[in-house]
Amino acid sequence: MKKLLNYINGEHIGSSSRSIEIVNPAKGETISQVILSNKNDFDHCIKSSLKAQNEWAKQTPLKRSRIIARFKELIEKNINSLAELVCNEHGKTFDDAKGSITRGLEVVEFATGIPHLLKGEFSQNVGTNIDSWSVRQPLGVSAGITPFNFPAMVPMWMFPISIACGNSFILKPSEKNPSCSIKLAELFVEAGLPKGVLNVLNGDKEIVDLLLESKDIASISFVGSTPVAKYIYETSAKNHKRVQSLGGAKNHLIVMPDANIQQATDGIIGAAYGSAGERCMAVSVAVAVGNIADKIVENIKINAEKLVVAPWTDKNSDMGPVISKEHKGKIIEYINYGESEGASLVLDGRDFKIQGYENGFFLGPTLFDNVKKNMKIYKEEIFGPVLCVVRVSNYEEAIELVNSHQFGNGASIYTSDGEVSRHFTTNCKIGMVGVNVPIPVPMAFHSFGGWKESLFGSNSMHGVEGINFYTKLKTVTSRWPDSINSGPEFVMPTN
Ligand code: NAD
Repeated sequence: MKKLLNYINGEHIGSSSRSIEIVNPAKGETISQVILSNKNDFDHCIKSSLKAQNEWAKQTPLKRSRIIARFKELIEKNINSLAELVCNEHGKTFDDAKGSITRGLEVVEFATGIPHLLKGEFSQNVGTNIDSWSVRQPLGVSAGITPFNFPAMVPMWMFPISIACGNSFILKPSEKNPSCSIKLAELFVEAGLPKGVLNVLNGDKEIVDLLLESKDIASISFVGSTPVAKYIYETSAKNHKRVQSLGGAKNHLIVMPDANIQQATDGIIGAAYGSAGERCMAVSVAVAVGNIADKIVENIKINAEKLVVAPWTDKNSDMGPVISKEHKGKIIEYINYGESEGASLVLDGRDFKIQGYENGFFLGPTLFDNVKKNMKIYKEEIFGPVLCVVRVSNYEEAIELVNSHQFGNGASIYTSDGEVSRHFTTNCKIGMVGVNVPIPVPMAFHSFGGWKESLFGSNSMHGVEGINFYTKLKTVTSRWPDSINSGPEFVMPTN
């Protein structure tokens, strides 16, 4: 069986005897294994990353930008095979996988602007004949730890920007689907990136802890579940590292009585059930305000029943399996809880089977109505194709729900009232907000990140926040002495 190793210094390498199976979620079959790296692998990686960074930081930003531009072209050329890697190990549909790579590609595109982005600031005459300027310099070796649900996009939120800034980057992808990360690193080297600037180190908690504790690593970027995000944040800070740590979510979509019902329903269906609900920006709570509730629940039910749940190889598939048998079991437990807590189960996806894929981790779209604030299915992140509808009587109750929830990643409001929309965007305690848009994922040149239990640390991902995260600020104040005594006589013009 194929064993995936690390990709260090342009070589597929690894000494650890520990490994874990990678499973195709549509079939429930093991397709390969991945190494779980040990201290030896770690030491080899760090040595390579330190050496490569030293040289890479000396390259001009323009030269770095040209290599990144070639990398972009190679991703475009290989996008179908990259998407297939994602589909086989993650299970999402082909279009969804391709779309997620495109979102990552946009960050690569943003990073090509690095000569402009690193220009810094300059003030003339901050004092008489004194000038001052600020520059942003690389941190050194940076590291990123990424989740299973976006095996291409989330790593690309991090490494293109870090590398553009002159750092080297160690990527520790999810052990559930590392193939796409390895392929991306190979393509970057093919584009001209010096070996060792981007290393992929596979593994689990053991290798993550070595990254967090290493004195040679300057920064940690993390995306994953909230309990692990908190651990990463605290441990990195204890080891005096810069850290950005993004956690879980429970995103609300409010439907006001004056909303365009058709648009709201379409938005909810795509955002709740796309990628089997395994998106940190998935809508998992629809808040129905006033008398719109019956209609919206009926519409969601009718449309969710039409969704084609199938493996990615079926071109009609709208939604694939969830990532693992364990995760499927956890989602079923949540549905059981919801029933026992008294929520109305309108659509039940627990017993979903596809002929020929009986061992796959499929679930059907699931819909709960009359969900209450104190229920476990409302309070916790389920991360599956389960949508909760909460009925409230007015807008004040709706925004109060959003603001009192522990998570603050994304939220949306569907309305035709500009005043309500403005109140919501101004007063909601949420990092990414949509108005008549279901999944308000910021573009690469803005920044991605939530509030509350959805982000620990001060910087979001990519955009200017990403540039700031991956660079140290230096401010120079300078005055030159009169040159009168040191060379040919110079008379200062009077104006
Ligand atoms: P996870 O937290 O289980 O794993 C994420 C990474 O951390 C993996 O690389 C894993 O190997 C590592 N890890 C796991 N347990 C660890 C531990 N105890 N110590 C050290 N490292 C550990 O998350 P996941 O299941 O892969 O991904 C799903 C989660 O990610 C969901 O909660 C989802 O909301 C979240 N997510 C958040 C965002 C965001 O932008 N906020 C984006 C994508 C996913």
